[in-house]
Parts: sequence; C-alpha cells; structure tokens
Amino acid sequence: MSTIFTKIINREIPSDIIYEDSEIIVIKDIKPEAKIHLLIIPKKEIATINDLDESDSTLIANMFFVAKKVAKDLWISEWYKLKFNVWKLGWQEVMHLHLHLLSNI
Ligand code: AMP
Repeated sequence: MSTIFTKIINREIPSDIIYEDSEIIVIKDIKPEAKIHLLIIPKKEIATINDLDESDSTLIANMFFVAKKVAKDLWISEWYKLKFNVWKLGWQEVMHLHLHLLSNI
C-alpha cells in the first residue's frame, strides 16, 4: 500500500521539495523538530531499514550522498545529524524508508 511519501513523490499531495533526482526526493518535514528538518526519501517503496536487501546498496549509499550534498548546499555541513527511526516501537510512523536530516544552526 502506498504511503503519504509516495503521494508526495507522485505530486498527488503538495510538499516543500528541496531536491529531487531519479531515485531520491528531499522534502521539508511538516512538523519540524529542529530549525532545519528534512526527509531524504527513496522513491522506491521500501518500508523500513529491515526491508533492505543487497540490491538496495547503491540507493542507500546515494541517500547519504544526497544528505551530504544538501547539508553542504545549506551551509550546515558541520552542524547536522542524520537519523533513521525503525518500526513503531522505534518511533517510525511512516512505513516508507526515510532519513531525517536535522540541524539547529
Ligand atoms: P518517522 O516518525 O521517522 O516515520 O517520521 C515521519 C516524518 O514524516 C515525521 O517527522 C512527520 O512530521 C513527517 N511527515 C508526515 N507527513 C508529512 C507530509 N505530508 N509532509 C512532510 N512531512 C511529513
């Protein structure tokens, strides 16, 4: 079943998109927990970190490269953290893989 992130990727609902390429989109979190709170989201529907397989290796690496690029573009390269929540007891609400990028600079 598609998640809200797939709807954002497909432009079915609006979002503040700050980066996009063929496999990844980056949006502003709707309920930011820091001054800058972005979500780095693969377009492929992978529910959680636990659902990754070897064929996702490049995609996952690219999520980190996008995080690095976005942080550089926003001039926060030395002031940010990255976070994956995993499953409901691990604070994951949206079952579509995403990497949080947070900064209070
Ligand atoms: P998580 O708890 O790791 O699953 O994080 C999901 C995140 O998605 C939360 O920080 C939400 O605020 C964010 N979120 C939910 N719906 C939207 C939306 N429509 N646009 C942007 N961010 C959203």
